[in-house]
Amino acid sequence: MAITNEYIKNLLCEVKERNPGESEFHQAVEEVLECLEPVIEKHPEYINAGVLANLVEPDRIIKFRVPWVDDSGTVRVNRGYRIQFNNAIGPYKGGLRFHPSVNESIIKFLGFEQIFKNSLTGLPLGGAKGGSDFDPKGKSDGEIMRFCQSFMTELCKYIGADVDVPAGDIGVGAREIGYMFGQYKRIRGEFTGVLTGKGITYGGSLARKEATGFGLCYFTDEMLHEAGKTFDGARVVISGSGNVAIYAAQKAIELGATVVAMSDSDGYAYDENGIDLELVKNIKEIRRERISEYTSERDEATYRVGSKNIWTVPCDIALPCATQNELDLGGARALVGNGCFAVAEGANMPTTPDAIAYLMANGVLFAPAKAANAGGVATSGLEMAQNSMRYSWSFDEVDSKLHEIVKNIYKSCSDAARVYGKEGDLVMGANIAGFLKVAEAMRSQGAV
Ligand code: NDP
Repeated sequence: MAITNEYIKNLLCEVKERNPGESEFHQAVEEVLECLEPVIEKHPEYINAGVLANLVEPDRIIKFRVPWVDDSGTVRVNRGYRIQFNNAIGPYKGGLRFHPSVNESIIKFLGFEQIFKNSLTGLPLGGAKGGSDFDPKGKSDGEIMRFCQSFMTELCKYIGADVDVPAGDIGVGAREIGYMFGQYKRIRGEFTGVLTGKGITYGGSLARKEATGFGLCYFTDEMLHEAGKTFDGARVVISGSGNVAIYAAQKAIELGATVVAMSDSDGYAYDENGIDLELVKNIKEIRRERISEYTSERDEATYRVGSKNIWTVPCDIALPCATQNELDLGGARALVGNGCFAVAEGANMPTTPDAIAYLMANGVLFAPAKAANAGGVATSGLEMAQNSMRYSWSFDEVDSKLHEIVKNIYKSCSDAARVYGKEGDLVMGANIAGFLKVAEAMRSQGAV
């Protein structure tokens, strides 16, 4: 899709010039701006109010040194980030990612997308993201704790329950959130809901761990339903075997699907008769081992090196739940060739733009991350609400609120696509619906 609107074309050029080499950020901005063309044509007042120009520039970028001591007594240094992108509709909110690939471009793209995703939830949440190039893989518990404490020693100056509320993401689960929460409490001397994804014993919400994966399946289910299809009896391939992937698999199985393959960054396990999810949970959540271990305990399963090859496994529904740009044109061709009828993004921006175009051109139902994985942050919003009330809801209460929120997200996206003449295009619908609320808030508050 080529951009024709002059203002948007120039703005995109400016973003590329001002943020050189930040390919992931450029990719995320380009997709949003392309989708907003018809909105801007209809609402030129957003241009004069500076809404778009302000949206593509983060409110602030916080970048800091994170020194920590490894088990041999050697001082190691990593780099930490928190990019607070936009708080027009609520306090900054978005995860922290610990992965060696983390850089400013990746955190910026994630923070930018978070603005629209959080808006779609209908909850008062602004957009942010953070993290570090620290690699938690192979580190001892003590090393993880010392790193998290050092990271929070700096980050705590910039966050707060009404200011900015980080959560987990790749490499940051309940263990890391716990160590960071403990450090925040120690330094600030206050027990507040400054992080989400906390343990259940100290303010976490039931169903938060499951929320992104469950929400992804709830969203996909709505999309399938509208097309007269269902999870029931479908063969599903899920990339990744982390938090999102595991709970997407659980819900897909509950809805009657057979999950035949899951992966990590080294390769994938294929189990024709259905992945044994308890075994995957044991390997990944408890033992913290590689997915290759799966085959040593399931004779009938096979393991293949190379995570991207997972898309060659024949399936009806594909759920990319690992990382950005993991599903490229080659993967999309393989999926279409094998008769896949739906792709729903659990990870953030996992599908490359050419792959999205190919899938949609070939009639594959496509659910974009901004909308499809928003159940995670929505439930973080519910965790914040419970913390503020000093109260906690049961698992079923949270799960049913999550389900309702996701149904509403689907409806907003589907309605926005229809209103702007692109019925069924959920990429367009998600970007437009997410944008409109933030744009209105920015205009009302005075964008400059
Ligand atoms: P986890 O760290 O729990 O799991 C990540 C999984 O993805 C692991 O299996 C990991 O394999 C794999 N992976 C990571 N990097 C790569 C890579 N470069 N190539 C191939 N595989 C990779 O993270 P989450 O499950 O929390 O996050 C997964 C995705 O979902 C991310 O895009 C995240 O931004 C998104 N997301 C997460 C939410 C949440 O609530 N957790 C909410 C919304 C979106 P390995 O162990 O080998 O690295």
